[in-house]
Amino acid sequence: MIVMSAHASPEQLQAVLTRIETLGLAAEINLGTGRTVLGVSGQGTETELEALGLLEGVERVVRVLSDYPLASREFHPEDRIVSLTDGIQIGGPGILIMAGPCAVESRSQLQSAAEAVSAQGVRVLRGGAFKPRTSPYAFQGLGVDGLRMLREVADDLGMAVVTEVMAPEDVAVVARHADLLQIGARNMQNYRLLEACARVDKPVLLKRGMSSTLEEWLHAAEYILAGGNLQVALCERGIRTFEPMVRFTLDITSVPVLKRVSSLPVVVDPSHAAGRYEYVKSIGLAAVAAGADGLLVEVHPNPKEALSDGPQSLSPKAFAEMMSAARKVAEAVGRVVT
Ligand code: PEP
Ligand code: MN
Repeated sequence: MIVMSAHASPEQLQAVLTRIETLGLAAEINLGTGRTVLGVSGQGTETELEALGLLEGVERVVRVLSDYPLASREFHPEDRIVSLTDGIQIGGPGILIMAGPCAVESRSQLQSAAEAVSAQGVRVLRGGAFKPRTSPYAFQGLGVDGLRMLREVADDLGMAVVTEVMAPEDVAVVARHADLLQIGARNMQNYRLLEACARVDKPVLLKRGMSSTLEEWLHAAEYILAGGNLQVALCERGIRTFEPMVRFTLDITSVPVLKRVSSLPVVVDPSHAAGRYEYVKSIGLAAVAAGADGLLVEVHPNPKEALSDGPQSLSPKAFAEMMSAARKVAEAVGRVVT
C-alpha cells in the first residue's frame, strides 16, 4: 500500500504508477479519502518497496500482510458499501432482503412471486435465468428470456434485480439486465468468470463454494477486487459437512469471522443451506442476529409446483412471517431491515 503525501502532484503520482508498472506489479486503485492511496499487489522485493518509498510525493509504503489485501479489513478498515441502485445498498446500518423464486419459470410465476415479496417491503427481486443444475436433464432456466422478464417485472414494481451469471460470455447480457450479478457456489473458483465480472460496472454477489474455506473464498473475492471492481458482497450459503439431515450446513460463524477479517458486506442465503422450508426462517433469523448485512431468500407462489428448489422455497405466507420476525431481530441487534 502506497500512501501519497497530501501535496503530491499529478506528475509525482504518474511517476509512481509508471514505476509500479515497470516492476511488474499490478493495480493502482485509488482508495483516497482526502489523499491518494494506492493498493499494489504482486511480489515486490524489499529493495523495490524501499525504492518506491523514496520517490517524490510518496509519504510511506506499508506492507500489508494479508494475501487478500483488497478484501481485508487491515487494508480498508471501514466497512465497504455495495450500491445496487440509488438508495439500495448492502452494508451500513440496514439489512437488505433479496427474495424471489429460485428460477424464473414463467412471466406469471415471476409476477406473483415478485408481488408477494414486494408487498413485504422487499426491494430486490432474485430469480435465476441461467441455472447451474446438478443434472443436465433438470430445468436449465429461461436464459435471456428470463432476464427480460426479471427486468420488466422488477421495473413495474420499482425493484432491483439480482440474478446468477454462469459463464464469462454471458456477463455482458446479464449485466445489461441485472443490478447485482450473482456468482454461484459452483462457480466461486471459476477464475475466468471472476475476472470477467471484475471488468463490468455492476456489483457482484459472490457465493461461497460448498467446500471452500473462508480464505479460499476471500481469495476468490480478491480476483474481482484486484481486477478493478470494488463492489463485491459475500454470500454464505452453507457448506458440505457430514450431516445428511440438512442440504448443507449453514456456517453461521463465517459471518462474524468475515466481518472481522474483511470489510466486504456479508449476506446469508438460508434457503440453500436449509434445503427445507421448515428451517429457513430460524437460520435466517440467526444470520440477522449474527450480523449479516443481508439475506437472500427463495420464495415461490406455489412451492409444490416449483421447477427447482421447491422443498426449500417459502410460500408468500411463510415469507411474510419470516419478514416480521426478521424486523424484530434486526431491531434487537440495533439494525433495521431494508
Ligand atoms: C441459487 O441461488 O439459486 C443457487 C443456485 O445457489 P448456490 O449457487 O448457492 O447453490
Ligand atoms: Mn435455488
